[in-house]
Amino acid sequence: MIIVLLGPPGSGKGTQAELIRKNFGFYKISIGDMFREAIKREDNIGKKAKRYLATGKLVPDSLVLKMVKREFVSRKGRRNIIFDGFPRNINQARDFNEFLNSVNKKIALVFYFDIPFSILSERLLQRRICPRCGAVYNLGTAPPISHNICDRCGSILAKREDDRAEIVKNRFQVYEKETAPVKKFYSKKEVLVNINSDANEDGIWRLVKKHIDRKFNQEKTK
Ligand SMILES: [Zn+2]
Repeated sequence: MIIVLLGPPGSGKGTQAELIRKNFGFYKISIGDMFREAIKREDNIGKKAKRYLATGKLVPDSLVLKMVKREFVSRKGRRNIIFDGFPRNINQARDFNEFLNSVNKKIALVFYFDIPFSILSERLLQRRICPRCGAVYNLGTAPPISHNICDRCGSILAKREDDRAEIVKNRFQVYEKETAPVKKFYSKKEVLVNINSDANEDGIWRLVKKHIDRKFNQEKTK
């Protein structure tokens, strides 16, 4: 079974990807992790990706697709795969669809983690990190014991550069614009499930699990 998870940064899709991996034994393909590993290994693709990331540019679709396909082919015999954060635009979605057709596979479910911008920005703007030890806090939901001081090492907390209001807003708008056609594409194929991400993690997980269980049952009775 192939599952795709889409949603803007901060929508909680990473958490759900991990839950699917652990509970159902899916092989997870996360674009972010994949690039980080390729860069560490310093292989051909890694070197190319590094050049883009170093200059703050988006990695081109062709390179993303090349990596995804390579990872898909070498997935260590696993039948069930989740894609975390891919495809992120319509180009990638179409190309990947053709690729899957060519290997006689198709996507079973696409979860879209939907969250209103006002809530997302509140979540991200309340995030604080410790510049010394890397501990992460949220002033709303997981605050430090004493105001603005790290519980673990006593340093003064800071905002992450890319959690600032303007950057958050811009990132969200770019994301929405790029993924709107992707949602439409999968909705036409009747695999899209919209998840309201403005709920607690357990509730979201129960819903996600229910959809996956149902798909497995359908496949069994085929
Ligand atoms: Zn600290």
